[in-house]
Amino acid sequence: MYWEKEIETLPREKLDALQAERLKATLRQAARSPHYGRVFRETGFSPGDFNSLADVPKLPLTTKDDLRENWPYGFLAVPREELVRMHSSSGTTGRATVIFHTAGDLDAWTNLVARCMYMTGVRKADVFQNMMTYGLFTGGLGFHYGAERIGCLVIPAGAGNSKRQIQLMQDFETTVIHIIPSYALHLTGVFEELEVDPRKDTKVRIAFVGAEPHTEKTRKRIEEYYGWKAFNSYGLSEMNGPGVAFECTAQNGLHIWEDNFLVEILDPETLKPVPDGEEGELVMTTLRREGMPIVRYRTKDLTRILPGPCECGRTHRRIERLKGRTDDMMILKGVNIFPIQIEKKLLDIPGVGMNFLIVLERKGFNDEMIVKVEVAREFFDGDLLKLQKLQRRITDELKGDILITPKVELAEPGSLPKTEGKAVRVIDNRKD
Ligand code: ADP
Ligand code: ZN
Repeated sequence: MYWEKEIETLPREKLDALQAERLKATLRQAARSPHYGRVFRETGFSPGDFNSLADVPKLPLTTKDDLRENWPYGFLAVPREELVRMHSSSGTTGRATVIFHTAGDLDAWTNLVARCMYMTGVRKADVFQNMMTYGLFTGGLGFHYGAERIGCLVIPAGAGNSKRQIQLMQDFETTVIHIIPSYALHLTGVFEELEVDPRKDTKVRIAFVGAEPHTEKTRKRIEEYYGWKAFNSYGLSEMNGPGVAFECTAQNGLHIWEDNFLVEILDPETLKPVPDGEEGELVMTTLRREGMPIVRYRTKDLTRILPGPCECGRTHRRIERLKGRTDDMMILKGVNIFPIQIEKKLLDIPGVGMNFLIVLERKGFNDEMIVKVEVAREFFDGDLLKLQKLQRRITDELKGDILITPKVELAEPGSLPKTEGKAVRVIDNRKD
């Protein structure tokens, strides 16, 4: 049974006390690593100086660059022979970073993933098809072991090979899947091509969608097209991978497992905590890691804590759907724009299809944004006026929101590039 009721509904004061106790132990453990040993020495901070959660702002922050500079073993807090697994980040924003786990770390991680899946209604009788990349990426093995722990029948399908995915779903009567949201949108075209109706011809009822930012609209599109319940799954390799924050059946924000992670939201400029409920950068500390504890990790992911209790009764706080990374922000003619804003607008417009791509170009002294959008097949029946009308509408709607006029190019369904992994939304050709 993976409804760990007592811990998931622990009253706030007890959760705080548990966090303080685990953080103290984490700091002692971290001090054994070359990196934190040095950082603590240099800053004159000793883990023994830590008394309560009020001391957290005094602790050093950790960045992806720290992990890169200490490649590969500089964060290890245990002898290497204690390690049993290595994973790495996807390398979305530069050189990938590596994370190591002891057997105890893997056990704790597996438990968290099982807890997340159970929370949405996954049970032993389910057939779980994991459509994520296996290997170094955490989304494959992370979910795999979580589902096995619940006792599901696991199909380790891996990413890509769309036709085979649909075949597996049908043959083995898959009930739960794990899929990247942009890939779920792309897959609609393959279902159509094969003339398979996901609602009638498959038994899938739950989908975990995550690993990349996506809007509520995208979730709705997935749910409406397939008839699945889609739950947002957030994680990052530095904090294990999947199983960090997850939606419950209320589908209103993602519970962060605060018995395993300390959560802060900081202003990314001043690095000071923002008032509760305000948006900022998510910063997290592992509270149970043995092999590679990480203190105050700057995720660069933007979100806010949702105020108030959740109707499901869990006391672990919720974060809002993620807006993207601070790195994703595009600056054009002095205007700050996130790809997610474009997605939000586009999916509201009837006729807009399942994929889009933003290309940034420098023309002389001017920056130009080209938005390539797939639109429904019916717009390519030769009626140019209809196509132009849609193009104008998309341009106007985007302009109204992002305040600059993009050049909009309409594309046929399935024609824009699609990767098996996280979607590449922006191609920036402005670099000199
Ligand atoms: P990388 O940081 O190189 O992409 P990871 O595989 O560790 O490598 O990916 C973690 C990152 O993926 C997170 O920091 C976040 O930016 C993004 N991410 C993961 N899940 C979600 C989600 N549900 N919503 C938005 N972004 C997500
Ligand atoms: Zn809840």
